[in-house]
Amino acid sequence: MDLKLLEYTLRELGEPRYRDRQVWKWAAQGAACFSAMTDLPLSLRQTLSERVPFSTLAPQREDHARDGTVKALLRTTDGRPVEAVLMRYRDGRASMCLSSQSGCPLTCRFCATGQMRFGRNLTASEILDQALALRRAAGGAVNHAVFMGMGEPMLNLDQVLEACERLPQLGVTHRRTAISTVGWIPGIERLAGEPIPIRLALSLHAAEDALRSELMPVNERYPVADVLAACRDYYERKRRRVFIEYVMLAGVNDSHAQAGQLARALDRQAFKVNLIPYNPTGSAYAGSSRKAIAAFKLELERHGITATVRLTRGREIDAACGQLAARS
Ligand code: SAH
Repeated sequence: MDLKLLEYTLRELGEPRYRDRQVWKWAAQGAACFSAMTDLPLSLRQTLSERVPFSTLAPQREDHARDGTVKALLRTTDGRPVEAVLMRYRDGRASMCLSSQSGCPLTCRFCATGQMRFGRNLTASEILDQALALRRAAGGAVNHAVFMGMGEPMLNLDQVLEACERLPQLGVTHRRTAISTVGWIPGIERLAGEPIPIRLALSLHAAEDALRSELMPVNERYPVADVLAACRDYYERKRRRVFIEYVMLAGVNDSHAQAGQLARALDRQAFKVNLIPYNPTGSAYAGSSRKAIAAFKLELERHGITATVRLTRGREIDAACGQLAARS
């Protein structure tokens, strides 16, 4: 819901400030409309229903995968597509993958979002409305959030952080919130200076500049050594490990030698590696075999680097990493 419009409307109606919190609390706990907010006067519920749209995003479509993953396609009032994904795990984890922009201005070669047109930055309310929509779809608690949907969060950090401030009321603490970046150094530096204890994830995908520039043109601007230095600094200041995301592309970045090279570029205190099986996006690349991924992981571990392989979720509904492109 447009929180600025809500605030404005409540003041205009002469309502006290605590009403803002009251309404937000209901929404954060999964209410689907103003009329459900039973500790608000009936007349106020009716007036709000008329004057404040319950969400800034219109639901367009919801896909459910057999593994419990839900992908929501939503649209802003000016018609921009936004996708958000909910992943549920057997251990009770319910993780929301949120978008910070409609589309993405960067052009990573293997990512579907980079192939669609860039729309615009999303507002904090539009980011929170994705979370509220997923929470309602979950029909229960959510407890993790990652900014790994559409867009580059560091290019819209003010709105992303404003949204993060309110996520704890949905059940997602700052420590269970992660911002993933292509390595936009000004954003990494700024986040390092913020008191909020959010996790940082870096999409690295190659440890040497020539290959990384080929995969991610943004590397021309912020090369590997500089990005890793900024992440090390983040670790020094926050004492929170930075997660390295590394999408495994067959014959491109998955050799034994490249694993060694990656391990030498990192240090074991500051970094943890998350290997991501490639999800098909119609790009020129193919995913590494399971065997190649396992061997790569082993080589990292031999160098003392902690590595995990990301579980692939929601591929059948194009909801997996890199597949968000709002095809409706
Ligand atoms: N722009 C930010 C946030 C998006 S995160 C970033 O790039 O970090 C999306 C994650 O999915 C990134 O790590 C991205 O590199 C990864 N990804 C993109 N395309 C993918 C694909 N086809 N298969 C698997 N992972 C992919």
